[in-house]
Amino acid sequence: MAKKVVIIGSGFGGLFAAQALRREDVEITLISKTSHHLFQPLLYQVATGILSEGVIAPSTREVLRRQRNARVILGEVTELDLTSRKVTSQLRGATTVFDYDHLIVAAGAGQSYFGNDHFDAFAPGLKTVDDALELRGRIFGAFEMAEVISEPRERNRQLTFVVVGAGPTGVEVAGQIAELSRVTLRRDFRSVDPGDARVVLVEGSSQVLGAFGQRLGGKAKHELRKLGVEVLLSTKVVDVDVMGVELEDAGGNRWRIESACKIWAAGVQAAPLAKVLADQAGAETDRAGRIKVLPDLTIPGHPEVFVVGDMMALDQLPGVAQVAIQGGQHAAKQIATGEHTPFKYFDKGSMATIARFSAVASIGKVRLSGYPAWAAWLFIHLLYIIGFKSQITALLHWLIAFLTSGRSERTITRQQIAARLALRAVGENYPPPAPIRTQPKDK
Ligand SMILES: Cc1cc2nc3c(=O)[nH]c(=O)nc-3n(C[C@H](O)[C@H](O)[C@H](O)COP(=O)(O)OP(=O)(O)OC[C@H]3O[C@@H](n4cnc5c(N)ncnc54)[C@H](O)[C@@H]3O)c2cc1C
Repeated sequence: MAKKVVIIGSGFGGLFAAQALRREDVEITLISKTSHHLFQPLLYQVATGILSEGVIAPSTREVLRRQRNARVILGEVTELDLTSRKVTSQLRGATTVFDYDHLIVAAGAGQSYFGNDHFDAFAPGLKTVDDALELRGRIFGAFEMAEVISEPRERNRQLTFVVVGAGPTGVEVAGQIAELSRVTLRRDFRSVDPGDARVVLVEGSSQVLGAFGQRLGGKAKHELRKLGVEVLLSTKVVDVDVMGVELEDAGGNRWRIESACKIWAAGVQAAPLAKVLADQAGAETDRAGRIKVLPDLTIPGHPEVFVVGDMMALDQLPGVAQVAIQGGQHAAKQIATGEHTPFKYFDKGSMATIARFSAVASIGKVRLSGYPAWAAWLFIHLLYIIGFKSQITALLHWLIAFLTSGRSERTITRQQIAARLALRAVGENYPPPAPIRTQPKDK
C-alpha cells in the first residue's frame, strides 16, 4: 500500500516537497491554512502597487492539479499526535483528522515584535497577502489623507512613513515608498506635493542589510539616501502608537516621530505550530521559537517527522526561500529512498532591490550592485514565480513600473485596511460555524 505523507504548509518548503514526490508511490495530503502558495519576496511589490496579489499567490490546488498523488486541504493544523501519527486540521468548524506514515512540517514563521505584540495594530508586518493589501491601503491612504488635510502638523504626520528594520524587506519597502512619492505620484495630487513625504528607515544595528556585509550594506545606505530616505542606524523603536513611534539611540536619548503609516519589518518568530510540535516531541527550540532539528531535518526520536524551512533551526541557516526549497526536497528524497542523510545547503546567494535599476547581490564570492545586480534580481525572481501566466503578467507589470514609473495595482479599499483589526475584535470564527467532524472522500 502507498505510504501516506502529510505535508503542512504550502509555502516554499511544503510545495517543493510535494512536487519532489510527484513520481513516487505515495499518497500526499498537503494541508495549509492559506489556499495559495505565496512568493513572499515580492510581497512588498503588492504593498506598493506594482503587482497584484494573484501574480505572487497562485492557488495551490491549481499548481498541484496534475499531480495525481497529491490532495490539497485548506485548514489550520491545530493538533499533532506523534504517537498515533495523526494530524488534526480545522476549517470553520469542520474538524478533519489525517493519518500519516511520514510528516513534513513547513509552517513557516510570522512577525516578531520582540514581546510587544500590541505594536502590530499600528505597525503591520509584511508576511501575508492580507498584510500586503492592508499596507497598500495604509500607504496610498496616507497620501489621500494628506490631500484633504490643511493643518500642517497633521498633514506632515500623514506624509511621514516609518519603516522598522533595515533587512531586505525594510530596505525594499522604504525604497519603494520613496520612489512612489518622488516619481510615481508626483503629478497626481493638487493640494499636496507627494515629493514632500518623509521616509524614515530605523535599524537597531549599526548597518543596513547586515547579512550582506559592510560594502554592499554601505552601498544600499548610499542609494537609499540618494532617494531621500532618512536612515537611522543604531536606533531602536521603543514604543508605537496610533500617532507615531518613539525611538531611542545607542546613547539612551529618546525622541518621537509623528507618523500615520508605520511598517514593521524587523524580527521573525516561528509559526505557533512549532511550539505544539516541540511540546509533543520534547524537542528544543531556539530564541525565535524554531525547532532544533537533527542533521537529516527530522526531530529527535521521530525519524518519520521532518521540519523544514523557516520553522527549523540547523547550523545557523538563514530563513530564506532556498533553505526551505532545498530542505523540502531533501525531506522528500529521504522519504522516497528510505535512507536518512545529512542536509547540505547549497547557498545560491542573496539579493535585495532598493529602487528601479538599483539592487545589491551577493553570489558566492561575487558582490554586485547597481544595474547588474538589479538585472540579476529581475531574472531570478521571474524564474521562481510559479506558473507561465503569472510570469508573463509580472513581466508586463514590471515593464509598466520600471519603464514608465506607473503602477497598475493602486486599488485600495476600506475593508483591506480595517479587516484584520475588525476580525480580531469579533473573533476569526465570525459568524460562528456549525461544528462538524469530517473526512474527505475520493470522487
Ligand atoms: C516580505 C518577505 C520578503 C522575503 N524576501 C526574501 C528574499 O528576497 N529571498 C529569500 O530567499 N527569502 C526571502 N524571504 C524569506 C522566504 O520567503 C522564507 O524563507 C520562505 O517563505 C520560507 O518558506 P517556508 O515554507 O518555511 O514558510 P512559508 O513560505 O512562510 O510557508 C508557510 C506555510 O505554512 C502554512 N501554515 C502555517 N501555519 C499553519 C498551520 N497551523 N496549519 C496549516 N498551515 C499552516 C502557511 O499558510 C504557509 O502556506 C522573504 C520573506 C518575507 C516575509
